[in-house]
Amino acid sequence: MVDLVSQRTRIQAEIDASFSEIMNNAAFINGPYVHQFQADLEKYLNVKHVIPCANGTDALQIAMMGLGLKPGDEVITADFTFAATVEVIALLNLTPVLVDVEEDTFNICPEAIEKAITPKTKAIVPVHLFGHAANMDDIMAIAKKHNLYVIEDNAQGIGSSYHYKDGKTEKTGTIGHVAATSFFPSKNLGCYGDGGAIFTNDDDLAHTIRGIVNHGMYKRYHHDVVGVNSRLDSLQAAVLKAKLPHLDDYNNSRQKAARAYTQALKHHKDIVTPTTKTNRNCDAGENGICDTCTCHVFHQYTLRITNGKRDELSNYLNSQSIPHGVYYPIPLHLQKAYEDSRYNNDDFKVTNKLSEEVISLPMHTELDEEQIEFITSHILKFMNGEV
Ligand SMILES: *Cc1c(COP(=O)(O)O)cnc(C)c1O
Repeated sequence: MVDLVSQRTRIQAEIDASFSEIMNNAAFINGPYVHQFQADLEKYLNVKHVIPCANGTDALQIAMMGLGLKPGDEVITADFTFAATVEVIALLNLTPVLVDVEEDTFNICPEAIEKAITPKTKAIVPVHLFGHAANMDDIMAIAKKHNLYVIEDNAQGIGSSYHYKDGKTEKTGTIGHVAATSFFPSKNLGCYGDGGAIFTNDDDLAHTIRGIVNHGMYKRYHHDVVGVNSRLDSLQAAVLKAKLPHLDDYNNSRQKAARAYTQALKHHKDIVTPTTKTNRNCDAGENGICDTCTCHVFHQYTLRITNGKRDELSNYLNSQSIPHGVYYPIPLHLQKAYEDSRYNNDDFKVTNKLSEEVISLPMHTELDEEQIEFITSHILKFMNGEV
């Protein structure tokens, strides 16, 4: 699914040199690379504050702690996402409110958000799923109208940007009140272990969060709030600092691979290829994927198989040793940990359907035409009943 070994060769010398330096200086925690990477990322994103932390799940949790959300507060998020998003809501004794997603973009549905709002609602967590910016025009408008926080889960979307209706463009993760991202190795900007960060343009919130990540300390050994211990270590920061200047190239490679997949697969009547077109304000190219912008950075390239044969296709790809994944096979509202009598299965028609139709193909920065041709020709052979 991902090829991190080939990617490493391009940046190996730089990373090896920084690793030696860090080990010689023994500055493993909070060393200079952490501060340099933080500053570089602030500049890249055009955001005032990046607060590095230990992983993306912590980043989400800390963002919610920083906003001062209280037990019983309702937080709306998508039914179709990785469990980390809803897990931290539940861990903080907030009340998760799952809502359905859009069929064509897989992202949280603004109308469903609006329907789920109650007097207890305090925040919305849009996930830029698979690297595609959620509908931030509508989400920010709903938040403003109902006085809600927006916490962007940008774990899959780093480097992508959102095109507003008025023509303005901003990087995902800099639009809501606060955002969380992950530097897990397979993410679009990945380190060599775990890592994450929180972004915000709010000076007070940034100050609060900097204390929370460090045991609630604002002055040494003065613990003003209950915090956590969540740090990005120097070795990981050095990897990220070396990779960040390549992030746009990495994302371009992913988009190029996505266009090639779509070119090969878009004509099949039982395959729906991903689109950047619907509900977004940029020009999608002939394949339904923008040629000129980064509103979708393809953390995953995800097809819908609409003839009910997704699992059979998966078995066939397994038999041919072609890697693929099903993200996500079970909607969160049906997961044991998150099921709740408040939910009505009929309110999740799209997620229920997607969980049966989606399949993600290998996606990384090193895919070449030959590999894509091999993968797509096997998919078409199966879909055309030729195997
Ligand atoms: C990966 C991911 C996370 C969690 O990140 P970790 O660094 O693995 O903790 C959260 N949300 C989404 C949507 C993710 O894909």
